[in-house]
Amino acid sequence: QPAIPALRTVSGAGLAVPLVNGRTTPYVNLDYAASAPALTEVLDELGRALPYYASVHRGAGYASAASTTAYEQARRTVATATGARADDHVIFTRNTTDALNLLARAVPADLDVVCLDIEHHANLLPWQQRGATVITARPTIAETLELIATELARPEVGLLAITGASNVTGETLPLDRIADLCRRTGTRLAVDGAQLVPHRDVDLAGTGIDYLAFSGHKTYAPFGAGVLIGRPDWLDAAPPYLAGGGAVRRVRTDDAEWATGPARHEGGTPNVLGAVTLAAACRTLSGLGRLRRDRHERALTERLRAGLLDVPGVSLLRIFEDSTDTVGIVAFTVAGFDAGLVAAYLSAEHGIGVRDGKFCAHPLLNRLGCADGAIRVSVGLGSSSADIDALLAGLRRLVEDGPGWNYGDVDGRIQP
Ligand code: PMP
Repeated sequence: QPAIPALRTVSGAGLAVPLVNGRTTPYVNLDYAASAPALTEVLDELGRALPYYASVHRGAGYASAASTTAYEQARRTVATATGARADDHVIFTRNTTDALNLLARAVPADLDVVCLDIEHHANLLPWQQRGATVITARPTIAETLELIATELARPEVGLLAITGASNVTGETLPLDRIADLCRRTGTRLAVDGAQLVPHRDVDLAGTGIDYLAFSGHKTYAPFGAGVLIGRPDWLDAAPPYLAGGGAVRRVRTDDAEWATGPARHEGGTPNVLGAVTLAAACRTLSGLGRLRRDRHERALTERLRAGLLDVPGVSLLRIFEDSTDTVGIVAFTVAGFDAGLVAAYLSAEHGIGVRDGKFCAHPLLNRLGCADGAIRVSVGLGSSSADIDALLAGLRRLVEDGPGWNYGDVDGRIQP
């Protein structure tokens, strides 16, 4: 198989990590789905913005005015990159979880919300808290869409909240067909884009998505910023998500007149650098071109799947029998091996970072028969075939040696 080089340079490339045998090895990051290392273009943008470090809005000083311009420009960049409608709000939040909680508080109280049991907890718990209808996905996408259509036919349903790509299996959902179902019943569609946006172009207006949430730290930008993009009416009518400075027009001692627009939900001093770098990541990803990104990630994911299926005892997790598209995420179990042991072994003996557990998707993992967890490998722009080959070699070695590997003092190695 031909070698596949990294498509982009990312932060942390070349990091040397200690192994249990006392040697060091270059870190192999196969955990992009948790947090994708920042692109060098994004770090350059951070370097350009830092000298203007100042609070936005109302500051008359030059740095404050420049920061305000950059912050407001970041909204427009994100809107353009996601195909937002002209009147959509772009609200900066802390992360996807924050964005979905904000939306959950803005949905009119008399409307029911429908979501699936395959969701990350971030797109389940905020809805569960307001008494949503959580439906169990069927074995196929086709049957699941039928089930969704039946649910949406209930007149009290106002919103379908669904993931764009599973954070467990990487399987994508057919958002165009789902948007069609929503259009037919006049239901709004909210998409958890945390795992979709880093891998695919999203077009809100073109597809008919009403709300989109995603995180900077999974989209090759630093931690601490996320975004909610979508229809203005519910958001402008909702109670402010964070009551405080910036969210108001006028305040008296006994009441307040709240702002409309993004400011209504962005009380307090905003994360300007987070917003600016998130926008830089969106711009860079758009500039890369969808085809190049797709080709790179699909080739790596294919190599990963084929290689894993060759390792004795490995079973890949899958939600839908008829899914044909995934982003660069693969979850699996190894018969006879505890998932935690596999992940600890790969790190301690080979310097490979993967994730184990239930991936904040307990209902799904339980239903897939993985109540004890699984292992998740995920790739991105900085990944290469050498990373995949190192993982496969490490796994084969573990399976040959048997599950008797001793964790030892794994934590003792970690010295940031
Ligand atoms: N949704 C999905 C599909 C995710 O993968 C994640 C992160 N694992 C989230 C939501 C939550 O993202 P964050 O932790 O950045 O809020």
